[in-house]
Amino acid sequence: MTSDERKRLLSDLLAKKDAGGLKVKDRMAIPPQAMPEQNAEVRRRNVNEVAQGYTEEQARIEALRCLQCKNAPCVEGCPVRIRIREFIGAIAEGNHREALRIIKANSLLPAVCGRVCPQEVQCQEKCTVGLSLKDVSKAVSIGRLERFAADWRGEVRGEGILPLRREGVPPTHPRMGDIPTTGPRPAQEVQGQDALATVPAMAAPTGVKVAIIGSGPGGIVAAADTRRAGHDVTIFEAFHKPGGVMVYGIPEFRLPKAIVQGEIETLKQMGVKIVTNFIVGRTRTIEQLMKEDGFDAVYIGVGAGLPSFMDIPGESLVGVYSANEYLTRANLMKAYEFGAGADTPIAMSKRVAVVGGGNVAMDSARTAVRLGAEKVYLIYRRTEKEMPARVEEVHHAKEEGVEFHLLQSPKRIIGDEKDMVTGVECLRYELGEPDASGRRRPVAIPGSEFQIEVDTVIIAIGNQANPLIRQTTPGLEFNKWGNIIVDENCRTSIEGVYAGGDIVLGAATVILAMGQGRIAAAAINDYLAKKKNANK
Ligand code: FAD
Repeated sequence: MTSDERKRLLSDLLAKKDAGGLKVKDRMAIPPQAMPEQNAEVRRRNVNEVAQGYTEEQARIEALRCLQCKNAPCVEGCPVRIRIREFIGAIAEGNHREALRIIKANSLLPAVCGRVCPQEVQCQEKCTVGLSLKDVSKAVSIGRLERFAADWRGEVRGEGILPLRREGVPPTHPRMGDIPTTGPRPAQEVQGQDALATVPAMAAPTGVKVAIIGSGPGGIVAAADTRRAGHDVTIFEAFHKPGGVMVYGIPEFRLPKAIVQGEIETLKQMGVKIVTNFIVGRTRTIEQLMKEDGFDAVYIGVGAGLPSFMDIPGESLVGVYSANEYLTRANLMKAYEFGAGADTPIAMSKRVAVVGGGNVAMDSARTAVRLGAEKVYLIYRRTEKEMPARVEEVHHAKEEGVEFHLLQSPKRIIGDEKDMVTGVECLRYELGEPDASGRRRPVAIPGSEFQIEVDTVIIAIGNQANPLIRQTTPGLEFNKWGNIIVDENCRTSIEGVYAGGDIVLGAATVILAMGQGRIAAAAINDYLAKKKNANK
């Protein structure tokens, strides 16, 4: 559809709607709006965002596909219960400010969630349009509309980083490595009138100190919500840059770092102190923070950053990376600029094998493509159907030339006399009965060994909890997987200590971490208020 055709379609649809004639069958007949994307050949050679965002016309047409169901089943699929029907209705009306206000009542990071949430297995899976058309990919694109509303604020407020796109005008994107340390600040959510304020209103200082350990999405939300209650909030972050996985793991081409940086700047404007290069458990323990440094409450949001390995021969060869290390070098440490300003090297690989089938594997494979690898193989022991990665990521990886080796898994990694990786020996697999995860179990076919010539192997088979907090925090209870045990209010076994995100849930999602950060902050605010009253 050309830009002019879209404009005409929107104007016809709006005229019909205003005349009261836009029926369910008319809405169902509106073509789903595709996300404009960088061409695959072009984007293989840059790190700019792949998805470029809806234009206003596209967003309003897509919003008019929503049937405005009375029972809004989509909301049930949203972990933070955004009022989806209402915000989409506002976009259809052209009232994007109101759409953003509605979203921000429940979600503090819409520009992030609109980009990385797995909507196809959440809100969009429940969408009546998709269900009626028996195709979830034809559901109303709730995530893209959330992103549109979040990015829109840039143009209206004249201070955003990703301005609204107009038909025929190419998008502007921050480049990887071009991350402002100060600058525009997207708005933070506040209930009521002040919902779009750049720096939200805060209660009078309480004089009470709250420590947030880890600056991922859960930590950011917990910090914002406790600071708003007037507390003196400090985030302690192990890395030299805040943002958690959103900064060190998820690549620029999926989530521009400037968006996360904007949220961090807002926290600083609110008066939240951010202390980097501070490893809780090494620099100070939780006990020391509470007993010696005067913190009255603590939120633990340290994520699940310990990579799992396969335990096969050859994993210590030079050229074998965990996905975490590979992505951290590429994203956080800017290894792509090694020799031109950055200190961190990364293998300049020609042939790369990535092992795994989740988002982390897709991110690693697509990063290897952008770093110049000639061949990137994705080795996964089940079929595409069982892959945990988002459908969109799988599609993008294929478009960018990643070769999928399904029903295969490495048996050993092969090296030369200098211990450099030269290949990987794999076994072929077939699917057996379903296992505990409900997915069919991969069963190795004896004698099916074969070799692939590679110089780099990236292991992306999952992450677990880092044991540091467990080893240094007596009295804190953990489950058998090393995750912190909390109640429904994210309260741990130690008074005043709360936890959320991946360290509680296991490797999960941004939106779930955000949701727990919010629950924990509400519980912390409540706990501190009661403590203050009891001391009166
Ligand atoms: P994290 O984001 O894990 O951040 C924890 C922070 O704590 C880190 O900055 C860490 O340095 C810091 N820290 C750790 N230990 C200490 C300590 N002892 N002291 C001080 N600081 C510490 N989710 C999605 O929803 N969509 C996606 O597309 C998606 N893609 C992903 C891609 C990759 C490569 C990875 C790794 C994950 C992805 N996820 C995705 C998962 C998502 O990023 C996580 O679920 C989410 O970030 C967890 O948030 P969190 O608040 O628990 O903390």
